[in-house]
Amino acid sequence: MVSFIPVLAHSDFSFSNLPWAAVRWSDGSIHLATRIGDRVLSLKALRAAGKLASWPELDLETFNRFIDRGPEAWSAVRAELIETYREGSRWEHDSQRALCECDWQDAPAVLPVTIGDYSDFYASRQHATNVGMMFRDPENALLPNWLHLPVGYHGRSSTISVSGTDVVRPNGQRKSPNDPTPVFGPSVKMDFELEVGIILRGGPTDGSWIPVEKAEEYIFGFVLFNDWSARDLQQWEYVPLGPFLGKNFASTMSPWIVSYEALQNSRCAGEAQDSPLPLPYLRQNRGSSHWNIELEVALATPDGQETVLSRSNSSNLYWSFAQQIAHHSINGCIIRSGDLMASGTISGNEPDSLGSMLELSWNGSKPLELHDGSKRTFLEDGDAVVLRGRAQNGGRIGFGECRAALIPAKPWQK
Ligand code: MN
Repeated sequence: MVSFIPVLAHSDFSFSNLPWAAVRWSDGSIHLATRIGDRVLSLKALRAAGKLASWPELDLETFNRFIDRGPEAWSAVRAELIETYREGSRWEHDSQRALCECDWQDAPAVLPVTIGDYSDFYASRQHATNVGMMFRDPENALLPNWLHLPVGYHGRSSTISVSGTDVVRPNGQRKSPNDPTPVFGPSVKMDFELEVGIILRGGPTDGSWIPVEKAEEYIFGFVLFNDWSARDLQQWEYVPLGPFLGKNFASTMSPWIVSYEALQNSRCAGEAQDSPLPLPYLRQNRGSSHWNIELEVALATPDGQETVLSRSNSSNLYWSFAQQIAHHSINGCIIRSGDLMASGTISGNEPDSLGSMLELSWNGSKPLELHDGSKRTFLEDGDAVVLRGRAQNGGRIGFGECRAALIPAKPWQK
């Protein structure tokens, strides 16, 4: 399928993608939108021009209420967009078309959903193994529960921001094993986490659950997610209740939600789960339970020059997204439309496929060299972290950039 809007071969936004975003339109208001190549298309303006009858005629500024309508409604709008923008469509020469489009650089993105709740998993075996080796016991790196359930924690939705928003280095307590007492100040071990997030539709509210075999029906779409981490704060505070201030100061989300439907031809098998076999409520046909999304992390210095630090793939997850959803809801926990679940850091088996500075520099013991010859163990003020991701389906199904710069800590004073 080809659109009359030209798409360059390296564009993330082929006609097969049609992702969802919220953008600030030329009149200053927020429009929900999709994108083909470099062109952003306003769903609201298309509806006003008499196109896109399946788009709910609501003055929406977020996708939450649309997500509530479910997969058939999502699919209907996508099908109408394809019909409207395919090669040969009469819409190409319609005088109203110009009112519905703009260049992507003229439409800055805002958060596309109101995220009520955010949970973060720990679903990459290699990441969990590496962290276990560094902080606990190299002989028993995975804790006894890890192969039996997708370990996760509740995050903080209030500090999730869209790509392009600066991240302030947090202050907090840290105490290394050699310090006699804790010290306070800006974190000295600032890190990123390469993750993929899913935006969900609401689930049962009566104490029942989302079964694993139906769990994917609740996935509205996928985003790239940088779950910024202050490792020194995290290491001191996390016992026994888990991540807290070392995690909840910032997370960065890519602006374009790539739909579940667009990624249907990018499925792949996950790692075998036969030793041990998961409990029945988590058991899933592994033939196509994962996604082949190529992932990349680059560090950009203030001059704009980039060094690629890591290349990974979402197929490196052990626990699938369906298993994460099924596990999250099995106790009756209510999932609401717009909720976000993130995968946890996605690390592969190779030294250049690790999804955090913690692992790449092995907790600071192996400095990384950047393009300009400078070294990093953790992030410095002025560094920007850029996540990129793409699948292939005829054309490229990409996410655009998930980018944010780290800026200096606010000086604390009593
Ligand atoms: Mn995380």
